[in-house]
Amino acid sequence: LAINFPTARTADPSESTVPTVVGARLTVPLLDGRKVGYANLDHAASAPCLDAVRDAVDELLPWYASVHRGAGFASQVCTRVYGQARDTLRRFVGARATDAVVFTRNTTDSLNLLARALPKGTSVVLFDTEHHAALLPWRGPRVQRIETPANADATIAALDTALRACPVGPRLVVLTAASNVTGEVWPIAELAKVARRHGARVVLDAAQLAPHRPVDIRALDVDYVVLSGHKLYAPYGAGALIGRSDWLQAAEPYLVGGGATRQVVDWGDHLGVSWTAVPERHEAGSPNVVGVHALAVACETLSQCWDDIAAHERTLLRRLRQGLAGIPGLRVLELFGPAQDRVGVVSFSVDGLDAGLTAAVLSAEHGIGVRDGAFCAHLATRRLLDRSGADQQRAVRASLGLGSTAEHVDRLVAALRSLAADGP
Ligand code: PLP
Repeated sequence: LAINFPTARTADPSESTVPTVVGARLTVPLLDGRKVGYANLDHAASAPCLDAVRDAVDELLPWYASVHRGAGFASQVCTRVYGQARDTLRRFVGARATDAVVFTRNTTDSLNLLARALPKGTSVVLFDTEHHAALLPWRGPRVQRIETPANADATIAALDTALRACPVGPRLVVLTAASNVTGEVWPIAELAKVARRHGARVVLDAAQLAPHRPVDIRALDVDYVVLSGHKLYAPYGAGALIGRSDWLQAAEPYLVGGGATRQVVDWGDHLGVSWTAVPERHEAGSPNVVGVHALAVACETLSQCWDDIAAHERTLLRRLRQGLAGIPGLRVLELFGPAQDRVGVVSFSVDGLDAGLTAAVLSAEHGIGVRDGAFCAHLATRRLLDRSGADQQRAVRASLGLGSTAEHVDRLVAALRSLAADGP
């Protein structure tokens, strides 16, 4: 029954040591009828699937069967794969032995699940530049939003002040590991230390950091980590909430139905239901075994090459930032400034150029995929556009990953330079 994880493949060992992605050699048609290699610079939205993940999914598909519910061999394979995936996710984030690994659909789902599981009267503290997935699930009078200061060090004092003002009772701090707008990495360990001092728990939104760097629950001293498979080079549909099990165990199931029930009895005027323990308690319904396997294989593959991934992204990010810095009228959005540690995500506006039109021209005339808008972080994007003196309401975002090459970066910079000079 052992399912072996495929080892990471590399495109050309003499050239690159990072895992390869599906679709790396796709060509796309341009407006003038030519075809060019697709420059996918939108990894922060959804990263392309790893070849190793595709191989693993191919290997599992013949064994497609129900998890936990069948005695047949295929069901045993799937149940085993599902359990192995929990162990892999636990290792991927360095979880404590007592932490629960709950499979969800994505980061948004994980945060909504946690929000439903908070003990009554929990105070929630968060910075106002969060992605909507982390900004919106928390309701009620005990939610405190801190205006994000323009300096990373100042976030520490700001969190301390906010936590001092919290009423007695359970407390949760919601933190983003890396911004999906600017790529900047937050001072997580320092902020977690402040939270600890005030007896608060911390949930870390690792959606953007986990594809780039190891995230370690114990080293960072946080209580929960949430992430999405589709940002980690696996297909859509699987994510995880990993962390302390007590609140999750005490909460009503997130969804009710099969899988979350231990026993159902008909008492005439009502049904008597007893629920299973975490993690199954919050995973009602048939689980996404293929998605979860894909997520686990992606985590396993990335874990084998963090140093190479970091080197690849560092080189490309430097090239991108240097290229953008030379374009007149282009304003890079930053929460904390150019010296801040960051992953390969850069948002910018170009004076006089509409972001939507810019993105459309990059696609139609240059075969480049970027994102435009406010990136599900409206408060952050608007504030940063204002602060940078931009004349636009929306921004363009280019995000790097394992499918990115120096040629993609150079093509983007050249296209933006000509757009900034001559207009669309
Ligand atoms: N948090 C951050 C920082 C993100 O960048 C995203 C997605 O862009 C999310 C949360 C939400 O992730 P998902 O759409 O996979 O739930």
